[in-house]
Amino acid sequence: MSTIESVTLMLALVYSTSLLYWSGKKWGALVSGTLLIGATLASFFWPLLLILLVSVLVVTLVGQYLPAFANADGRPNAIREICQHFFALSILLVAVQYAINAGMLYAGETPWLMRPDVGDAFLPIAGGIELKAIITLGLWDQNHPAAVVMLCVVLLTGIVCKRAFCGWACPLGLAGEYLYKLRKKVVHSELLPPAWIDWPLRMLKYLLLAALCYLVISMPSATIPHYLAGNYHKVADLKMAAFFLMPSMAALICFGIIFALAAWRRQGFCRYICPYGALLGIVSFLSPFKIRRNTQHCLIDAKGMSCDKCTRACPANISVHTQKTVRSDECQACLRCVSACPKKQALQLSTRNGINLSARGLLIVLLTLMFMLPLLTYVSGYWHSQTPDGIKMELIQKLNRIGH
Ligand code: SF4
Ligand code: SF4
Repeated sequence: MSTIESVTLMLALVYSTSLLYWSGKKWGALVSGTLLIGATLASFFWPLLLILLVSVLVVTLVGQYLPAFANADGRPNAIREICQHFFALSILLVAVQYAINAGMLYAGETPWLMRPDVGDAFLPIAGGIELKAIITLGLWDQNHPAAVVMLCVVLLTGIVCKRAFCGWACPLGLAGEYLYKLRKKVVHSELLPPAWIDWPLRMLKYLLLAALCYLVISMPSATIPHYLAGNYHKVADLKMAAFFLMPSMAALICFGIIFALAAWRRQGFCRYICPYGALLGIVSFLSPFKIRRNTQHCLIDAKGMSCDKCTRACPANISVHTQKTVRSDECQACLRCVSACPKKQALQLSTRNGINLSARGLLIVLLTLMFMLPLLTYVSGYWHSQTPDGIKMELIQKLNRIGH
């Protein structure tokens, strides 16, 4: 596991363990901490153990000097923003490390910097094919095993806590937020499309998802081993990197449309284009947690007052104040509506039988889901790519000529 991956993983898991402790779940913290230490020792990778110790030290020091942050005791919006920026920084460093590694391979030198396997998260089709291989053939890919791990991680977060991955972790969502804010500085007005345009645009992401699923489902199981052992799959990550670094004219036009959408309306990319958002939107219906409005406490029903603060705070334009339960596939569990509500018990992210998930609780669940599975697969030997550098050096020279 590369340094950036190890640091991010350990900081996130140690932090979520400390949050469990601070929220009074001492047994939960003990189990989580024991699992973390056990998995680290079982990995036989001493840098991971060293980073675990450093992470414990860092989290302890943060607890000493920034207790509100350490306990995630602040406002949900502040906690979410810190979390988003932490992930964005981590992905940025991963991208730099990946670029250095790929640059050295291209120059024919053995990289001194490890390739961060988490970059395989950007290979969702490979992840889908690998998932199919595991289910239908019991075959685990050796070239990009992290692709299927990250796909499962994202799916798990959706099943448990809706689209919290989009609202709390996705760096593309954060970049879109900044683009939108920049556009608002230049053109102040809100440019929301009417519902008859908004709905078909929202369906675009489902069409994209359907196309990706078709590619995976239509591939006969018998041909999967051949595909996974082929040159195209071996360099799928490098081809993806080249697609972004040396885009064709068609790709540039697509990027332009995506930027325009993100700047035009808040969460425009997540709402209209992102196939991961579509996937999470579908599985989010399974999540037991939903934003629920308690009519006994809401000012509208309890006091007969007029209030729509929750709706006005919602970046997804969901009419929260008119619903008892928000079931929308666009809800990112961002908790902005909960933050904006003047009555503490009127609006909560909760299950049907009243189990509430606070911002801190959501953060614990999200961090644990996102990092425990990568750690466990790493310890089991199913995380790191086994493609030798020599083969990549050879293939990278003829990248354009390698097809399916
Ligand atoms: S309903 Fe609430 S949690 Fe869901 S997207 Fe809107 S503001 Fe965020
Ligand atoms: S902000 Fe709170 S009190 Fe106001 S409508 Fe929404 S849930 Fe009710």
